[in-house]
Amino acid sequence: MTDRVIPAGAAAGPPGDPASEPSVRIVPLGGLGEIGLNMMLLEAGEDLLAIDCGLMFPDDEMPGIDYVIPDFSYLLGKREQVRGVILTHAHEDHIGALPFLLRELDVPVYGPRMALALARERLREHGLQDRARLLPVEPRRAFDVGSLRVEPIRVTHSVVDGLGYGIETPVGTLVHTGDFKFDAHPIDGERSDYHRLAELGERGVLCLMADSTNVDRPGTTPSEHEVGRALADRFRRAPRRVIVATFASHIHRIQQVLDLAATFGRKVALLGRSMETNVGLAAELGYLRVPKETVLPLEELSALPPYRQVILSTGSQGEPNSALALMAAEEHKDLQVGEGDLVILSARVIPGHERTITRVVNQLLRLGAEVLWEGVAFVHVSGHASQDELKLMLSLVRPQFFVPVHGEYRHLLAHGRLAREVGLPAEHVFVIEDGQGLELTKTGARVLQRFPVGRVLVDGKGVGDVGAVVLRDRQLLAEDGMVVVAVTVDRATGEIIAGPEIASRGWVYEREAEAVLEEAKTVLREALAAHRSETPLARDALVSLLRGTLRRFINQRYERKPIVLPIVLEA
Ligand SMILES: [Zn+2]
Ligand SMILES: [Zn+2]
Repeated sequence: MTDRVIPAGAAAGPPGDPASEPSVRIVPLGGLGEIGLNMMLLEAGEDLLAIDCGLMFPDDEMPGIDYVIPDFSYLLGKREQVRGVILTHAHEDHIGALPFLLRELDVPVYGPRMALALARERLREHGLQDRARLLPVEPRRAFDVGSLRVEPIRVTHSVVDGLGYGIETPVGTLVHTGDFKFDAHPIDGERSDYHRLAELGERGVLCLMADSTNVDRPGTTPSEHEVGRALADRFRRAPRRVIVATFASHIHRIQQVLDLAATFGRKVALLGRSMETNVGLAAELGYLRVPKETVLPLEELSALPPYRQVILSTGSQGEPNSALALMAAEEHKDLQVGEGDLVILSARVIPGHERTITRVVNQLLRLGAEVLWEGVAFVHVSGHASQDELKLMLSLVRPQFFVPVHGEYRHLLAHGRLAREVGLPAEHVFVIEDGQGLELTKTGARVLQRFPVGRVLVDGKGVGDVGAVVLRDRQLLAEDGMVVVAVTVDRATGEIIAGPEIASRGWVYEREAEAVLEEAKTVLREALAAHRSETPLARDALVSLLRGTLRRFINQRYERKPIVLPIVLEA
């Protein structure tokens, strides 16, 4: 079987007359080519709808960056047509970029209540809470957005209130799964709506867009209940305190920990701001049942004997400054981890976080704790469908066309292959990436010309002002440091009247390198003196003389290449 990459403009299915035949377009702005950053546009006539508006967290190659968000320029270019955003669920990679969109565009946001509650928190942080129109939706309660009829469909995932969507368009029904798995025994009893998916399939679905995150995993993703059972066994045998670190968004996991604490006569303290916020919101909205008198402030919990204590904390990825990392480093002001404590990192090891996690694990082990994480024990299950569930989704929905979403290119490609295995013709499977639209008619589909999409970096208050050049500077600064050399010249004569002075960061430790700094100054003075006989140097020439001389000196002496920044002051 070969993997076809369909060239832009190529048609599949019987060619229609584009002038007379109605069509819709799906245009991915993010999430097709990476994990995270999810955003899919749907264009039908004069109506444009966005599905999700997510962010991505930066990797090691983006020093100082807070988040990465999709490039909205294509969408903003059609701002008059944008009818709204529909959210699938409460994860940051689906809602996190909303504040950045809503400050450019005033459109309604539809979504499940938990996703809206967390989105409202984010909007509050950006001072946008009053402007946003957040409209809660319910499974099977269809609503109209422009000419589109949108029906939320319940799916199970590692959040509460996860949704997919069935969208009726002039050319047919599209189904977007959101992030999903088929958990036959979910904690809240809210099973994926197999029935509705099958009904839509029976009636005819033009195109399915389905989550590809776990396409590499054979079989079926275990139920969330399986984790509860495994944790119960650990709780039963724990002689002293139990510390569980998980994602604050994983309300079902949190529910199970609270229930276990109640079962085993323990009390729970919540650590971490997002843990407190999410537990509060989820309880208020009825997604979390907090067993009576189970949650206590940390001071009250600490007064109990260790075998009655449970700590529920953020920091499952070993994030510096998280409660768990502080405990591991013996820097938490109210908590000391000790011999016999059980620490459970009940979360996925997110690629890129292995080092911070193992550091925390080692530190905790050194303190005498028993530590369980995904690498050594069954303490977590994924929220994404494995291969058999992906095949089930394809079989229920039976789409005419299929577009894998939510994944790196390799995931999308593998998901496309899987779809062909369950019987979709190769020419009906479209592996497209961000910026590559697909046009659908009642009978055909074709990939559109690619348009430029990018990732926009957010650092503090700056959105998009940090680009490749700044990132490269930051990497150089991180690798070799920076040296500033300053001289003062007489404004009238151009004579040097003070300096050179040298200041540096990340090159040498100045207090122990005075001799080197003196030597560098001498070299600079000599280079300047060599020009003294001639007319004073022009400013540009002086700058490049200082930079070149100092660079050569540092390179000869250290084989290092710090950024050299000459400053010429006039007096
Ligand atoms: Zn998710
Ligand atoms: Zn996701």
